[in-house]
Amino acid sequence: MVDLDLNSLLRSNIRELVPYSSAREEYSGNDAILMDANENPFNEPYNRYPDPLQRKLKEKISGLFHTKPSNLFLGNGSDEAIDLLFRAFCIPGKDNVITLDPSYGMYEVCARINDIEIRKVLLTETFDIDPGGIFSAVDENTKLIFLCSPNNPTSNLLDYNKIVQILNSFKGIVVVDEAYIDFSCSKGLIPLLEVYTGLVLLRTFSKAWGLAGIRVGMAIASPAVIEVLNKIKYPYNVNILSQELALKFIDDTSTRDQWVSTILESRNQMEDELKMIDFVQKVYPSDANFLLVKVNDPVKLYNYLKDNKLIVRDRSRVSLCAGCLRITIGTETENRKLLKLIKGFKD
Ligand SMILES: *Cc1c(COP(=O)(O)O)cnc(C)c1O
Repeated sequence: MVDLDLNSLLRSNIRELVPYSSAREEYSGNDAILMDANENPFNEPYNRYPDPLQRKLKEKISGLFHTKPSNLFLGNGSDEAIDLLFRAFCIPGKDNVITLDPSYGMYEVCARINDIEIRKVLLTETFDIDPGGIFSAVDENTKLIFLCSPNNPTSNLLDYNKIVQILNSFKGIVVVDEAYIDFSCSKGLIPLLEVYTGLVLLRTFSKAWGLAGIRVGMAIASPAVIEVLNKIKYPYNVNILSQELALKFIDDTSTRDQWVSTILESRNQMEDELKMIDFVQKVYPSDANFLLVKVNDPVKLYNYLKDNKLIVRDRSRVSLCAGCLRITIGTETENRKLLKLIKGFKD
């Protein structure tokens, strides 16, 4: 067990905060007349505030992940958890966080919004973690390290042993964003939560589950960290409609699995076809539902595709990704359209 001194890591204003206590937290039964929350008595069931702690949904999700509900925080996308971690642990103008470069853009945006210094540590040539680089960037004001595995936009799983190496020596919170884990051959790091109380995993319904529109994401961590996030979140942060839809879809893991295997099959096929095109320099090996593709003239290809009403992501100005476009795998028809357009492109 690598235990974290959570209290000394927390910002003092958060440690001492008396959280807002909502009506549905003070009474959460369902057999009483509710005259406590100034709701309109008409228009059932939408007149009622949602369960602030999403108990039913957490019960289901914890079964899926073999965790306890007390290990789960649910938010308005996993982006909410990212922002809350900054607000709980980082003192504006003083503390710093470490991110990989390149990686998901939200870590940096959240850092800047919260006025927290960001220290970017370049990935290696093979897009893996450089633990030495991370350790030399850490100082006594470093509170969070953000890792993302599989990483966006590089599409690869990070090396397990290097993640463990960081967990073993860093005295703050290590966040591992596993948004794309269902597309990879890894089951993710949930088993490590038993060992590292400073580990926070991010998962989402936005990718493999096909539910980006309902905005439900989660943090999985030790109960002590989850309590902190619950204490500072907006009381009713996941609305009734999203909770209900997530509950409904979560029962159908076989459809999710079918989507994932279809997407993986298409991705492998797309990879093979792209590699045969002469102006494609490299298709990076992917553990996710997208491909990072290096081409001779990315901006020209991007604009050509856009003119043909097909939008990919230009990542060519991102560190280590010169020449690269990021292509999300679509339906079979969409993938065929993309390949047909690319084959008709003259660079
Ligand atoms: C898409 C994505 C997410 C998902 O964020 P939500 O707010 O849950 O939709 C999280 N992390 C990474 C790295 C992503 O690419």
